[in-house]
Amino acid sequence: MADSSQITVTSPLLPPLEEFIPYLKDIWDRKWITNNGHYHQLLEKELCKYLGVEYLSVFTNGTLPLITALQALRITGEVITTPYSFVATTHALWWNGIKPVFVDVDPSTGNLDPGKIEAAITPKTTAIMPVHVYGNPCDVDAIQAIADKYGLKVIYDAAHAFGVRVNGKSILEAGDISTLSFHATKTYNTVEGGALICHDAKTKQRIDYLKNFGFAGETEVVAPGINSKMDEVRAAYGLLSLQYVDAAIAARHRVADRYREALAGVEGLSMFGERADVTYNYSYFPIFIDAEKYGMTRDELYFRMREHGVLGRRYFYPLISDFTTYRGLPSAAPSNLPVATRMANEVICLPMHHDLSEEDVERVIKEIKIHG
Ligand SMILES: *Cc1c(COP(=O)(O)O)cnc(C)c1O
Repeated sequence: MADSSQITVTSPLLPPLEEFIPYLKDIWDRKWITNNGHYHQLLEKELCKYLGVEYLSVFTNGTLPLITALQALRITGEVITTPYSFVATTHALWWNGIKPVFVDVDPSTGNLDPGKIEAAITPKTTAIMPVHVYGNPCDVDAIQAIADKYGLKVIYDAAHAFGVRVNGKSILEAGDISTLSFHATKTYNTVEGGALICHDAKTKQRIDYLKNFGFAGETEVVAPGINSKMDEVRAAYGLLSLQYVDAAIAARHRVADRYREALAGVEGLSMFGERADVTYNYSYFPIFIDAEKYGMTRDELYFRMREHGVLGRRYFYPLISDFTTYRGLPSAAPSNLPVATRMANEVICLPMHHDLSEEDVERVIKEIKIHG
């Protein structure tokens, strides 16, 4: 149980319970609780509208759309990806028997550095799998240019990028496929859930077969599919929650502005810049601690904050490439990933959610400024 004096890194966006009850009553009346039901269809339609995309398929979590995307595009061999992410990104490759090839990240965004991708391409490379980490948009034009030059597919793990736009256009339109996570900890949740965004009706049809065992009709199975469908209860929850997500993002925006203002100029502390052409979702607020200049290591600060009830998280430490499954790969060597290694050693994600009070935010700031 969370101690009430503790400030947690995240808190789930829960729609009002009394507003959810009528949805449940309706599901009970319909007696249709999963398999492309009423709310499943409605949620897909409403998410398309909200996100500004045309073809979207909802899933039971955010990992299965990644695994399914790789199946749908028949990706094999080697895939270039980032070590600076949540471990599910690389696990999705491993579950498909694909060898991950780690490439270093750009220090100004934390995203895959396009300038380092070409050197990692081999005859076995079939795709690039970048992540819009913290909701920072990747350099999608540079990545697409490389993909086009070498005939590679691009699958974005957009788990952090719900609602993010560049020049008013959804970042989810980039690449061949993008995936979202609607896990409880994310900006928008369906308890557990996720989605896959593609760009044509034929691919969406294939994805919809794949998420339901490959069934194309009562007796016809067209592919070795899996079961990753979203049920009606969570689809209805998601539909209701969607009405509250703009207010939640606005609340996060206020927290981010206050952090940014209060922490600017703290010696040894850096933050990402914000681009004027990007609509952010404020999903995370990472700070980076240069131990020498700050006068304390990241871990010293992290554990002191914890002692005082301010629970940040070290996203993303350790790097994916440092976990036992992957550390033996040649591309996992820290010498190949100097920027990601430094970021993983310096990062703390500050508490960031819709429910932080002004006092909470000031308490977090004070914790960090004791030293600054
Ligand atoms: C949360 C997350 C996932 C996994 O999503 P789940 O819904 O938890 O399965 C994948 N990639 C990234 C980058 C994430 O943050």
